[in-house]
Amino acid sequence: MPRPRRFRRIQYMPEVNYFKPAGIPMANLNEVVLTVSEYEAIRLVDLEGIPQNKAGKKMKVSQPTFSRILKSARKKLSEAVVKGMAIKIKGGKYKMVQRAGAGKGRGLRRRAPAGGRGRMGGSSAGPGGKCKCPKCGHEEPQTRGQPCMNKKCPKCGKLMTRA
Ligand SMILES: [Zn+2]
Repeated sequence: MPRPRRFRRIQYMPEVNYFKPAGIPMANLNEVVLTVSEYEAIRLVDLEGIPQNKAGKKMKVSQPTFSRILKSARKKLSEAVVKGMAIKIKGGKYKMVQRAGAGKGRGLRRRAPAGGRGRMGGSSAGPGGKCKCPKCGHEEPQTRGQPCMNKKCPKCGKLMTRA
């Protein structure tokens, strides 16, 4: 029997997969994208205090690979904190399980995976917001929980921005 493909082992899925600094409109926000492997590396080493060689074994990756993942994760996190960027966690072969109501808090924002429709209203989409097309000037009310930058102008198809 052929061996099934080995995936990096992830013990816990992130509770929240999007972190956003308070008070910055989505349109002006830059984000860093943390892979699930990077998330797991940080969790094992920095949170649980597991030595790198053991953590690498847990994730079934070689030592150099683990060290590269960890370094990259730390760099991204520090960049996000220093520059006020949003953090998105994604990537890898895994399935996100949506747990309604969990992980909602101030400054944290949950986002459905691309294509999905988030049920949770994001705090950044205040009531009465408007989206505007930068190309033709078309305006329309912002859908709750849906950033304007994810919306296409119905007239010309350009991605919209927050008005
Ligand atoms: Zn337009």
